[in-house]
Amino acid sequence: MKKTIKIALAGNPNSGKTTIFNNLTGSHQHVGNWPGVTVEKKEGSFAFNGFKVDVVDLPGTYSLSAYSIDERIARDFLLKENPDLVVAVIDTSNLERNLYLVAQLLELGTKVILDLNMMDLVENRGMKIDTEKLSRILGVAIAETVAHKGKGMEKIKEIIVEQAKEGKQSFFKIDYGEDIEKTINRLIKFLKEKRINIDYPLRWFVIKLLEGDAEILRKVKNLPQGETILNIITESVAKLEKHLGYDLETALVEKRYGYLKGLVEECTARHYTLEERLSISDKIDRVVTNKFIGIPLFLVLMWLTFQLIFTVGSPVANLIDSFFGWFAEVTSKGLINIGAPEWISSLISDGVISGVGSVLVFLPNILLLFVTISLLEDSGYMARAAFVMDRLMHALGLHGKSFIPLILGFGCNIPGIMATRTLESKKDRIITILVNPLMSCSARLPIYILFAGAFFGKNQGFVIFSLYLMGIVLAIIMARIFKTIFFKHEVAPLIMELPPYRLPQAKSVVIHMWERGSLFLKKAGGIILAGVIIIWFLSSFPPGVEYASQESLIGRLGSVFAPLLSPAGFGFWQAAVALGFGILAKEVVVGTLGTLYGTGETGLKDAILHHFTPLSAYSFMVMSLIYIPCIASIATIKRETNLRWTFLAVGYSLILGWIMAVIIYQVGRVFLRLL
Ligand code: GDP
Ligand code: MG
Repeated sequence: MKKTIKIALAGNPNSGKTTIFNNLTGSHQHVGNWPGVTVEKKEGSFAFNGFKVDVVDLPGTYSLSAYSIDERIARDFLLKENPDLVVAVIDTSNLERNLYLVAQLLELGTKVILDLNMMDLVENRGMKIDTEKLSRILGVAIAETVAHKGKGMEKIKEIIVEQAKEGKQSFFKIDYGEDIEKTINRLIKFLKEKRINIDYPLRWFVIKLLEGDAEILRKVKNLPQGETILNIITESVAKLEKHLGYDLETALVEKRYGYLKGLVEECTARHYTLEERLSISDKIDRVVTNKFIGIPLFLVLMWLTFQLIFTVGSPVANLIDSFFGWFAEVTSKGLINIGAPEWISSLISDGVISGVGSVLVFLPNILLLFVTISLLEDSGYMARAAFVMDRLMHALGLHGKSFIPLILGFGCNIPGIMATRTLESKKDRIITILVNPLMSCSARLPIYILFAGAFFGKNQGFVIFSLYLMGIVLAIIMARIFKTIFFKHEVAPLIMELPPYRLPQAKSVVIHMWERGSLFLKKAGGIILAGVIIIWFLSSFPPGVEYASQESLIGRLGSVFAPLLSPAGFGFWQAAVALGFGILAKEVVVGTLGTLYGTGETGLKDAILHHFTPLSAYSFMVMSLIYIPCIASIATIKRETNLRWTFLAVGYSLILGWIMAVIIYQVGRVFLRLL
């Protein structure tokens, strides 16, 4: 003989009760009417784990106040038929409102399991529910279903049987606040003393009386001591209402909703859904991509970015600089003190520490640059910038999206080149890669700062800006030329993707910064360190030669190439050597000059002032900007394209750099003579 469990489905209209009912009972159901009314009553049953479960589908109600027929039917059934279990089916996407009925069921002392139905909508709306917490706070077991898809049905059957067997009544209780609670407790005590016989849970009964529930009041009236009780109730309500300043029923309802609001807040998390984010994005985009505001806004952001990089970064950079100066000195003295030969001390302090240090000094600026780039990228702004620049890019024969790799190039050409992977057309990729090294990466900044600082004093900012600008203009011209030569007939696709804005996640920004920043550190620890050591050796040999003199290996090597550079105004071997080693990494240009021209900032600056003129200094900076991508960039270009394009990238930049430097020097000289 099977054991029978009697359950009822309760819930708001349209919460999915009937769908659940049909899923549970299948064809084992019959439809009748509730006694005395024409409201449909559905009953059915299912078998599970040796149990027979009888199911009643209650009319949909929002509460159990017995104002409507449906509410009264549901309430009478719960009170009189005493089901083993009530499954509260709720539309979880409307959690707070639906929980009102659940709270009432629990107050009534019904054994409830909560079915979070419509979980599909919950997910769509970007809501996350901590069901474990909700279950803990309400003191009920929870099932999750998507009823119209039949999802979660086996699980809910399992929970029904399990809870009907051993589940306890919930301890759930809403705290109505001190005043009301006092009255409730006093009345409970009073009813207990009078030994009044009622079939309802006492607390619930008292609350209903305070609420003025018509049906309960009527029942009390028929009790032997009904009049007395009613008088006390009326008195209590009047006293409470005077205290509260408004009507008690409203106060009770408010308390319940207040409680549920807090509960929902506690147990749900909300993230904006795609749809919402799209509509917020739309609003922001109306401003950001506006025809007139877009470009100025972009320029302001860029200006702020550079401001941030230099104002925040430079003090830290100065600290690092002082540290390495101090460290080199201490090391040098220490080595001499312990009896190390002079050349070792020189290698370590002049070569390694000064050389690598002069590069590491730029780490704070570079990390900041990468942070801002990551922020602009992750937030979705970069795509807008590209959108705003789209028309300009089309004039170059490129897609607006090419703009992002180019901007990234200002940080470092390597991530810039790699970012071209997002471009769909091969033409866009190749051209963007080829011109990327013309974007003045952060490694060239030390060169500018050294030379512009020495020769242009107050105007150095302007001079440096002109170099960035020259890079951009040349990139534009070269892009046009490459397009005409290699991709004459390809049209640029028109669609620009605009992903929704999102709040950049600190973690991802840090990761991005680190990925790119560590590249720089690796460079400093690897290529640059090696370069500095090689330069030191070449400067010290053959044995007996004066350090870094023209007779040293490095001097002889430089002298071979120097004549090539004299039309550009810097035809001496030190410049040739510096540029030569700059291929390792552009930072090495400064490091090399430092090694060759003597140590200490003033020493280097003086030497430069002695060897260069403002004009040749400028043409040297232009040369440094253009003449060749660094080794790591060349390797990246090779990886992203093929050998042919790599040769082109190296070849055109060598020629272009030389031509530009020569033009600037020669034309400049003519101008200066005319002035
Ligand atoms: P009742 O009024 O509580 O009996 O609700 P019904 O079972 O009649 O369901 C109301 C509507 O909600 C119907 O159109 C169902 O197909 C739909 N529905 C039921 N469960 C789900 C669910 O989990 N997700 C969604 N999206 N719709 C559901
Ligand atoms: Mg229904």
